[in-house]
Amino acid sequence: MPQYRTFTAADAVAYAQEFGGLANPACLVDAQEVGDGNLNLVFKIFDSAGVSRIIVKQALPYVRCVGESWPLTLDRARLEAQTLVEHYKHSPQHTVQILHYDPALAVMVMEDLSSHRIWRGELISGVYYPQAATQLGEYLARTLFHTSDFCLHPHDKKAQVARFINPEMCEITEDLFFNDPFIDHARNNYPAELEAQVAALRNDDDLKIAVAGLKHRFFSAAQALLHGDIHSGSIFVAEGSLKAIDAEFGYFGPIGFDIGTAIGNLLLNYCAQPGHFGPRDAAAFREQRLQDIRELWLTFAERFETLARTETRDAALAYPGYAARFLQSVWKDAIGYCGTELIRRTVGMSHVADLETIEDDEMRVACISHAIELGKYLILIAGQVENVEQFIARVRQKG
Ligand code: ADP
Ligand code: MG
Ligand code: MG
Ligand code: MG
Repeated sequence: MPQYRTFTAADAVAYAQEFGGLANPACLVDAQEVGDGNLNLVFKIFDSAGVSRIIVKQALPYVRCVGESWPLTLDRARLEAQTLVEHYKHSPQHTVQILHYDPALAVMVMEDLSSHRIWRGELISGVYYPQAATQLGEYLARTLFHTSDFCLHPHDKKAQVARFINPEMCEITEDLFFNDPFIDHARNNYPAELEAQVAALRNDDDLKIAVAGLKHRFFSAAQALLHGDIHSGSIFVAEGSLKAIDAEFGYFGPIGFDIGTAIGNLLLNYCAQPGHFGPRDAAAFREQRLQDIRELWLTFAERFETLARTETRDAALAYPGYAARFLQSVWKDAIGYCGTELIRRTVGMSHVADLETIEDDEMRVACISHAIELGKYLILIAGQVENVEQFIARVRQKG
């Protein structure tokens, strides 16, 4: 077994030559570290013509954006690679292809998606990909259905749950989503002007009970193999194409968590629009985000229900009407988790560029305030919103 060492650019080139599966590996000559994430090293490996051909991603034994004072399990590279391999089996069109991985080196070699762009950046720039939301709904339906009890044999399901135990990465989510923003915590990071609004979160019993319920389901509802971090920065898009990357938070959890994270990031972008385009021009971009949310949910639900009708193995779960009932509970979970995503990205430690890049201070604070209020509202009303049209109407009501 190779021993862990942090790769240099030269190590990454050599590794890509060995495991990149190229017919002519000697053409790989150069590497550049491009990781803009908070956690890992990402090398682009270039050929002699200067074309990027392959990606080598390696986990560091600590949180990159904090430093060695916050150690973090290297096992997350195995979990990321195995989650993406599993998702690729069920949704090859919409999952990055993993070519090789090594748990001891905490490294993986993957398909180069330089022909694509990170969706978050495109959403901020106002570049619309009208098929992206549908494709994301399809990815979520296929990956989540095929790793759920609707599809897996009960023995396989339990073995898979064990293979994807991911306690340290789950703990980050448990803390950052469900604890920090609702207590006075040193990791929190929000504009001083919003102190009263944030204090109100800490003092709202109904809100804290609802958040406890969401956290409890995150702990215990092993419904399917989640991506676990499916925000718009974990999604590459190109015309007619969408690919998920970065699944190191993968574990068996509540399906609504992935759906809610995805919808939540569309709503964060919705809240940020006035800061980028001014209140008047923001309206059209906001309508695109609401349309994205509609497409995402309707595609997910339709595809999941079709798969449930045609491919459910368990006789009891196959009973007509059950899948629809189950999707109602997923929908309600998704609204709650969506609310927690809005709050943890504004009050908590980890923020989104959609809001952070708004130049005008007053406007940025107003957009952040809107996201906090919308997040709180969604958590509180999650149980009462029957369908996506009602959801959109409620979002519009909140400004
Ligand atoms: P982290 O886990 O540290 O957040 P990511 O997997 O999100 O790392 O990758 C960070 C960045 O590296 C991405 O935003 C993207 O710019 C680049 N990147 C990652 N994977 C690929 C890929 N397969 N093809 C091209 N660029 C990639
Ligand atoms: Mg990332
Ligand atoms: Mg902790
Ligand atoms: Mg990551």
